[in-house]
Amino acid sequence: MSDEQILNEIESNKEEYIEFLRELIQTESYNPPGNEKNVAQKIEKYLTNAGVKTEIFPFGENRANLVTTLNDNFDGKNLLYNGHLDVVPPGSEEEWKYPPLSAAFKRKKIFGRGAADMKGGLAAMVIALKILRKLSIKTSGNLIVNAVADEELGGKLGTKWCIDNFLKSKKCDFVVVGEPTGFDPLSKAIIIGEKGRVAIKIITNGISCHAAVPFLGKNAIYMMSEIIQNLDKIDEFIPRIESPLTEDELKELITVVFSNKEIFEKIFKEQPLLQNVIKANTQFTKNLTMINGGIKSNVVPDQCESVIDFRLLPGQTTEMILDGLKKLINKLGYQIKDEPTGLPKEVFVYLEIEQSGEASYWSDWKNSQVLKDFYTIVEQTYKRTPFYFILPGSADAKFYRNTNFCQPTILFGPGNGQIAHTTNEYIEAQDYINAIKVYTLFAYNYLKN
Ligand SMILES: [Zn+2]
Repeated sequence: MSDEQILNEIESNKEEYIEFLRELIQTESYNPPGNEKNVAQKIEKYLTNAGVKTEIFPFGENRANLVTTLNDNFDGKNLLYNGHLDVVPPGSEEEWKYPPLSAAFKRKKIFGRGAADMKGGLAAMVIALKILRKLSIKTSGNLIVNAVADEELGGKLGTKWCIDNFLKSKKCDFVVVGEPTGFDPLSKAIIIGEKGRVAIKIITNGISCHAAVPFLGKNAIYMMSEIIQNLDKIDEFIPRIESPLTEDELKELITVVFSNKEIFEKIFKEQPLLQNVIKANTQFTKNLTMINGGIKSNVVPDQCESVIDFRLLPGQTTEMILDGLKKLINKLGYQIKDEPTGLPKEVFVYLEIEQSGEASYWSDWKNSQVLKDFYTIVEQTYKRTPFYFILPGSADAKFYRNTNFCQPTILFGPGNGQIAHTTNEYIEAQDYINAIKVYTLFAYNYLKN
């Protein structure tokens, strides 16, 4: 067996691979509600036809996680590929040039919800395992492909559940999460850390009265406004944490894509997106993203609700943020209650964590030979120099890194990060085929005797 033979195998089956991806895109798995089992069954059928066993772990209503492995031995090195089965809903379908479930194949691109995020990466991982089985490679380890539910709503029923259950007794040495890591106009990124996200709902409870005599009441919208205007002061109540990589270090990581530093600096100046992604990657941020209050134009409102989206640096915890927010609100003179209802005419604030996922970072990535090998395969396959980077959003890698299940976890996959969750989402067919090559070649070289 050689890299050559693997590449030949992929080149001669491209049509089959594209059809498989199209089938996954055509299979609805919008989350909410999820319906991941539909896609899991398609993967099961595809692998069963190739003589590969899969196991589906159903839960809830039509939901599921799936696992399939190269062999039955987990005593040697274990490589884990993770991809999520769910996709975000398509929004208004009339805005799509090709319907979101059509998987239209036009101008060397496949269009549809999930094409980039991330049925492309998922299909490529499933195919990589199938190829290794078909070519009967001798390995000193195992490849585990884990297709998971619930990523788009936090991942606790998907990746987290899998770690706590069938993966619990196994140790993994390296994990690749197949999220789209293209960053147009740059080359492919290999992601070695990600920021965290905590969404907290704030309810201010005031006293309602006729707006003609406003002194009788306590306006809940004014209370909320006071909290929002002082939100930046939360920094005083949160332990100061340095970003693992500085702005200069992040810029340095991208510079490798360009032939020299001057060209990079010139392009950097013209790229507000890139500048702001770097800025976001080195800071704790907060933003008011939802607000709702008031029932009538002549009534002083007694309730106002808002949601604040906090983005965390590695080392910051949900408790730190919640605690900081409580201290800030107390300092403004409001009491915080543990329940959303109070006595009549009680003035208070109630806080509720809507979603929480902490940041994560593979601290030792610079010293990893395995990562260098992965990098080389990406570079040779795509014929462009990739770059290491941090994801400003959040993905499932945190569950592997933060539980110490497997620190060496990266994100790498076909598709463009900016295209995820947008209308007319697509993946370039060549990018998808390249990802199949990367996943297969890496697994083969990593696991071979
Ligand atoms: Zn995704």
